Amino acid sequence: MSFPVPEITDVNRPYWDGLAAGELRYQHCKCCGNNWLPAREHCPQCLSADREWRPSSGKGTILSWVVYRHAYAPHLADRLPYDVTAVELDEGARLLTNIVNGDEGRKLSVGARVELCIENEEGVSLPRFKLTDPK
Ligand SMILES: [Zn+2]
Repeated sequence: MSFPVPEITDVNRPYWDGLAAGELRYQHCKCCGNNWLPAREHCPQCLSADREWRPSSGKGTILSWVVYRHAYAPHLADRLPYDVTAVELDEGARLLTNIVNGDEGRKLSVGARVELCIENEEGVSLPRFKLTDPK
């Protein structure tokens, strides 16, 4: 089964264009200052539509993770086991991602520092992260 490609919309296009250009972008609310991902039309904190895209430093911290040892989608069977990790960027936006050097989840920990590592998969640039100080 082939890799599912993201649905590009007018709302999330800057996010995907940013990754293709080598940067991770998040949305910033010009009304309350909130930063978030994934892309949406209104600020999830104050519901203002007055927003802009900003580039992230690409640095963040692990909030939580799980390691999948069963493929719930057929296209993921050949990469078992793999992690799904919640990362909070230093700018405050959060995203679900994968850690590229997590050693099947054994090196992951809450609060571990990570940095952006964009990977291209079947023509799609994906925001993944690597541990900056793997133990
Ligand atoms: Zn807001």
